[in-house]
Amino acid sequence: MTKALRELGQFIGGSFLPPHSGASFPDLDPATGREIARVPQGGAEDVEAAVTAAEAAAPGWAAKAPAERARLLDAVADRIEARLDELAELESHDTGKPLSLAKAIDIPRAAANFRFFAGAVRHDETACHTTPGVINYTLRRPLGVVGLITPWNLPLYLLTWKTAPALAMGNTVIAKPSELTPLTAHALAEILREVGVPAGVFNLVQGYGAEVGQALVEHPRVKAISFTGGTVTGARVAATAAPQFKKLSLELGGKNPTLVFADCDLEQTLDGVVRAGFTNQGQVCLCGSRILIEESIYPEFRDGLVARVGGMKVGPPQAVDTQLGALISQGHREKVEGYLALAQEEGGTILTGGARPTLPPPYDAGAFLQPTVIDGLGHECRAVQEEIFGPVVTLHPFKDEEQALALANGVQFGLSASVWTRDLARAHRVSAALETGMVWVNTWLLRDLRVPFGGIKDSGVGREGGRYSLEFFSEARNVCIKL
Ligand code: NAP
Repeated sequence: MTKALRELGQFIGGSFLPPHSGASFPDLDPATGREIARVPQGGAEDVEAAVTAAEAAAPGWAAKAPAERARLLDAVADRIEARLDELAELESHDTGKPLSLAKAIDIPRAAANFRFFAGAVRHDETACHTTPGVINYTLRRPLGVVGLITPWNLPLYLLTWKTAPALAMGNTVIAKPSELTPLTAHALAEILREVGVPAGVFNLVQGYGAEVGQALVEHPRVKAISFTGGTVTGARVAATAAPQFKKLSLELGGKNPTLVFADCDLEQTLDGVVRAGFTNQGQVCLCGSRILIEESIYPEFRDGLVARVGGMKVGPPQAVDTQLGALISQGHREKVEGYLALAQEEGGTILTGGARPTLPPPYDAGAFLQPTVIDGLGHECRAVQEEIFGPVVTLHPFKDEEQALALANGVQFGLSASVWTRDLARAHRVSAALETGMVWVNTWLLRDLRVPFGGIKDSGVGREGGRYSLEFFSEARNVCIKL
């Protein structure tokens, strides 16, 4: 990581520019509290300029053959791979996540997103329906200018998950990353320019959500919004976009159950449940934060889990043996700590963790928190019902499959679940009855980019992945010919 303060710009019409406001705000490394960059404070004027640039570029980009767009997407993937170490450093400093995680997951997945959608658009096809004397065929057209709004937990991973299919289908893009994690979005703009993506096809407007994000959603010439973030923000985005009949994809929060049956492979399950609970400091929308355990193995499982979690290494994100880095900000740590206090008021017992670790300078100024396991909470408690989005899991015993499902489904969210059992029939039965968009059996976050990804209930609307993303970023049109 370079020690000099990075001055970031907006990326509009192929150039890095200062924001219209002339103002900027600090980007902090959450592991040290140090300022590492200045973020341009964008506003409606920057969004307007980006829309104008994106509109101007749209016809030329849409007219390119899919194979040519795919060639450029592959070139982006190559450049991300070539810059993997540098991008992982940026991501780790921007988010506080372990560098090892950024190197193994975030950045490789960003490259994979571009490579996957390059392949997908090369192999894309549309339907043809025939009856005697009539042929119907489907045309797919790009939407035009689309807005992509992403959160801070997986910055480049999620931005590329939207950018790649949007560009593949011939749209032009305005991206708005989280104000807390601007660095890899800036690097992505550099990469797209380097490989020759034409000016105006990808634009980046940095700044606050309430200013840039809101202006993007409100803009009448932005045809679609693909949003990933919290449920409260998602509701606001939906309320703004719906009266304009904008196409909308919402990937929102979760409070995901992990169902542990007595017939599971205990060691394998303990490893998987720890991974599901604490990856990225528990700041993954898919994290399994409610652990439901069949009562006959509850004591054994609880003790095994507490021993594993208590032994996890919290430390400097760039250290090779660190398993948990810093949370995204001091403010977020305080929010998580507020839930720890609430959980205790609600009758919960902290079995391990619950405090700030002691770390040497400069990490003593970082937003670190010990991984925490709580039991003894009723399922109606707020700490069990609300998304905490930190390194905190709660444990709950259940008697039988019926009660396990009632607990699993007894929240407003419906993003994902994991089920741990050696009984195949049970695995199918429980998976079908879970009210979540995704279920993993004897694993967690094992991704195939072709499958539908998204939530039900308050966890979102729409699906991403494979053809679902291609469909979202295009308009299907029917042509009917009477022969
Ligand atoms: P957030 O506060 O909802 O922010 C998400 C994005 O929306 C950020 O870029 C934010 O900008 C922007 N934003 C804020 N106000 C806006 C407005 N009025 N109009 C338009 N955009 C606005 O979420 P977060 O705290 O960054 O991320 C954590 C949440 O994301 C968790 O709830 C997590 O579960 C969810 N998430 C879901 C998925 C999924 O696939 N379902 C994946 C990852 C994360 P600023 O940052 O500048 O405010």
